[in-house]
Amino acid sequence: MTDDCIFCKIIRDETPSDKVYEDETVVAFEDIHPAAPTHILIVPKNHIASINAMEPDDEKTVGHLFTVARKLAKQLGVSESGYRLIINTGPDSGQVVYHLHLHLLGGREMGHLG
Ligand code: 5GP
Ligand code: ZN
Repeated sequence: MTDDCIFCKIIRDETPSDKVYEDETVVAFEDIHPAAPTHILIVPKNHIASINAMEPDDEKTVGHLFTVARKLAKQLGVSESGYRLIINTGPDSGQVVYHLHLHLLGGREMGHLG
C-alpha cells in the first residue's frame, strides 16, 4: 500500500467509492467517469503499479481479476451482450492511475479497436 495512491485509499475506505464486490484479494467499484453504461474497475488490494511491475508471485492475483470480471459481467447482465476488459499500461495506453486495474466495460456496442 502507498499513502498517496487513490486506489489504495479506496481500498482502505479513506476515499468513498461505489463498491460492487470485495474479497480477500481484490476490490471492484464503479468508475467515477464511466465510459459505458457498465464501467467497473477491478483492483488488487496489493499495490502493483502496473503490468510492468508485476512479479511472478502476482500471477494468481492478476488471474483472479479476470475471474471476478467474468462473475461481475454475469451479475451485471452483460455476459451475453458482451463486454470489454482493458488493462492500460504506461503513457501511450493512457494509464492515469498507477495501481493495476482491470476495466470492465459493457452495456453498449463498442466496435473494433482503432
Ligand atoms: P486508467 O486510465 O489509469 O486505466 O484508468 C483510471 C480510471 O480510474 C479512469 O477511468 C478514471 O475515471 C478512474 N478514476 C480515477 N480516479 C478515481 C476515483 O477517485 N474514484 C473512482 N471510482 N474512479 C476513479
Ligand atoms: Zn495503490
